[in-house]
Amino acid sequence: MNIIIFGGPGSGKGTQSDLLIKKYGLFHISTGDVLRAEIKAGSELGALAESYISKGQLVPDEVIIGMLANVLDSNKEATGVIFDGFPRTIPQAQALKSILTERGKEIDAVVALEVEENELVARLLKRGEISGRSDDNLETIKKRLDVYFSQTAPLVDFYKQEGLYKGILGMGSIEEIFARITDTLEGLK
Ligand code: AMP
Repeated sequence: MNIIIFGGPGSGKGTQSDLLIKKYGLFHISTGDVLRAEIKAGSELGALAESYISKGQLVPDEVIIGMLANVLDSNKEATGVIFDGFPRTIPQAQALKSILTERGKEIDAVVALEVEENELVARLLKRGEISGRSDDNLETIKKRLDVYFSQTAPLVDFYKQEGLYKGILGMGSIEEIFARITDTLEGLK
């Protein structure tokens, strides 16, 4: 099973991914985590990524797409993958489709966490108190939300047209949201 976990910044993608990995034995690819690891390692890619992340902007498509293909090819044994924070633009979604098709794979569902905007801001500010992430401050959060609505939200229609979009109410307790996701995924089988 290959899943995309989709939603705005602060919608709970990482939290729900952790639970999904445990339940279904999926391999987790979080492009944000990969980029933060590159920054920590002091690599060239990390330095490039940092200049975008700190401003709340997206890292260029060609960089992210190349990185994603590398991560997939380094983990060929994975029987199922959860894509977290990728794709974030239409060109990334188109590239993912060809990358998977070339490897004889496909996306089974796009689990989309639907959360109100004011709740996203509140959650990100709260996370900023403990995460130490340079992009969890009010100014950058606002930019990330603008970027989400202008560049990432068009993927909703893209995946609805593909017949893969599964909207999940992303408000409530972590357990309640997880139960909604697993009910939806079980319904696909
Ligand atoms: P995240 O941890 O998913 O919230 O990502 C943190 C930041 O990393 C984003 O605000 C972007 O700057 C960058 N990033 C992560 N994934 C992508 C992606 N798929 N495309 C472009 N930039 C990304």
